[in-house]
Amino acid sequence: MTPEFYKKEECRLCGSRALELVIELAPTPPGNHFVSADKVGFPQARYPLEVYFCVDCHHVQLGHVVDPQILYQKNYSYVSGTSPIFVAHLKEYASEMLSRFPIPKDGLVLDIGSNDGTALSLFKAAGYKVLGIDPAIEIVRSANENGIQTLSEFFDLEVARKYSPEFGKAALTSWLTVSSMRLPEWITGRTVSSTPVLR
Ligand SMILES: [Zn+2]
Repeated sequence: MTPEFYKKEECRLCGSRALELVIELAPTPPGNHFVSADKVGFPQARYPLEVYFCVDCHHVQLGHVVDPQILYQKNYSYVSGTSPIFVAHLKEYASEMLSRFPIPKDGLVLDIGSNDGTALSLFKAAGYKVLGIDPAIEIVRSANENGIQTLSEFFDLEVARKYSPEFGKAALTSWLTVSSMRLPEWITGRTVSSTPVLR
């Protein structure tokens, strides 16, 4: 059986082991893991929540890696389109990206951690091809039903190799709420990152 979490001893960015504990919060259930009425009052799984600072590259990150299926696939309830503030931010983001980067009209916009496809819908409305990748099965289903093609996967190099022959290379790749603080490894490549989330 795979452990539900493990301690990450090396920095996610540079591999250094010179990590200093800077914030130690109480063990906490995963964000947005709300329980149904019949489970209120029962103990809920909690995971360490400690923030470390890498002395060598200054990257700030969580000290533990929780099984991504627990964080993002089972009971994942955060839906981007339900927050008017976040939708407004995404509109600004899409407009700024389109003005800063010359994306060819047949270019593909790829969003990693695309959730319900709110961000991609803005690029689609502007006439671009779009593709989302997100592990939250139910949310991906609704994105596809709403016309935003989305793959239900955890993004990694293997997934990129698997789908690139079918979809080609992306002209713009975004990961709007993917945090380098708690991923097991950092993903390299040219990307646009905005609003990293500490959860
Ligand atoms: Zn480092």
